[in-house]
Amino acid sequence: MNSIEALVRPNIRTLSPYSTARDEAKGAPDVFLDANESPYAGLGYNRYPDPRQKVLKARVSALKGLPAENIFLGNGSDEAIDLMYRIFCTPGRDNAVAIEPSYGMYAVAADINDVELRPVPLGADFALPVEELLAAADANTKLLFLCSPNNPSGNAFAPSALMELVRRFPGIVVLDEAYADFSAKGSLRAAVRECPNLVVLQTFSKAYGLAGLRIGMAFADAYVIDLMNRVKYPYNLSEATQELALKALETSPEENIREIVSERERLFQALPSFPFVRKVYPSDANFLLVQVDKADELYEVLLSGGIIVRNRSRVPGCSGCLRITVGTPAENDRLLQILCNYA
Ligand SMILES: *Cc1c(COP(=O)(O)O)cnc(C)c1O
Repeated sequence: MNSIEALVRPNIRTLSPYSTARDEAKGAPDVFLDANESPYAGLGYNRYPDPRQKVLKARVSALKGLPAENIFLGNGSDEAIDLMYRIFCTPGRDNAVAIEPSYGMYAVAADINDVELRPVPLGADFALPVEELLAAADANTKLLFLCSPNNPSGNAFAPSALMELVRRFPGIVVLDEAYADFSAKGSLRAAVRECPNLVVLQTFSKAYGLAGLRIGMAFADAYVIDLMNRVKYPYNLSEATQELALKALETSPEENIREIVSERERLFQALPSFPFVRKVYPSDANFLLVQVDKADELYEVLLSGGIIVRNRSRVPGCSGCLRITVGTPAENDRLLQILCNYA
C-alpha cells in the first residue's frame, strides 16, 4: 500500500461502487429498456444523465489543461469538500486541520461527518502559519484545508508557502481556489500531476457566474479522482446542468473578471476615506473585507438601503468586519452613496 492509499478509510478502499446498466453495456444500443425510465421524452429529460460527464469533462479538460483522469465534477465544490471527509476520515476517530478564519463549509462538513476539525489561526495580516499548521497534525490527521485566495480575508498566499505545506504535510492537502480567477497569483492545479496528496478545488459559481447551476471541480491525482467517482452519487450532475454548463462555457468570463477586478480596486481606493472605516484588507478575490467602527449598525443601515453584505464581525480574526462582494459599477455606486449618507 502506498502512502495515499494508507490515508483512505478501509471501507472506501475496498468499496464496490454502484454500477449503472449503461456503464456495463458494450456496443451502441438505441433502444433503452434497462433503467426503468419513461420512453416518452417530454422536455427531453426522460433519460438518466451521463454519470461520468464525458462531454462536459472534455470541455473542462481543454479549459484547465489537465486530462479528464485528473478531474472530478460535483454538485458545487461543497460536494467535493464533503467527499474528502467521507473518503479519508473515519468518523469519531480521524481529524482534519484548517486555517481560521476560512470558508464555513470545512467545519460544517466536519461536524456532519463526526470528524474533529482543528482550526489554526492565520498570522498577522492573515499570513499563512506554515509551522503551526504542521504542528497541529497527529497520527489521525488526514486532511488539511487551505483556501487561496482565502474567504473571508481575501488574500492569496504565496505559491511557494502552499507548496511547502503540500510537501511536508503528512496527509491530503485540499487547496480551495474558488477565487483564483480574480488573483494575479493564479492556480496550483497543474501541480496535482506531481503531488499525489494535493487536491485543488475550483468552482463555476464565482468568476463564471453559474452559482445557480451548482458545478464544482476538483483536480487531483487519478487515484484520488477515482475514489471520488466511486463515492459520489452516480448522477450527481443533472442533464440540464451539464447542457447549460457546456453552453455557458462557449463564452469567456474574462471581460466580467476584468471589470470586477477594476471595480474591486475602485472600492479599495474609495472605502478608506469614510471616517468609520478602520481598515480595508487587500483582496485577490471578488470581495473586500472591511473593518468598521460599528459593524452591526452599518450592516443594518445597508440592509435598510436594500443592500445585503456578509457580517463577519463574530468570526475569529475578523472583529468589526463586513465582507462586501464587488457588484456591478451601478451597484457599487449605490453602496458608496449609502455610505456617504451614513458618514
Ligand atoms: C463560494 C465558495 C465555495 C462554493 O463553491 P460551490 O461550487 O458554489 O459549492 C467554495 N469555496 C469557497 C472558499 C467559497 O467561498
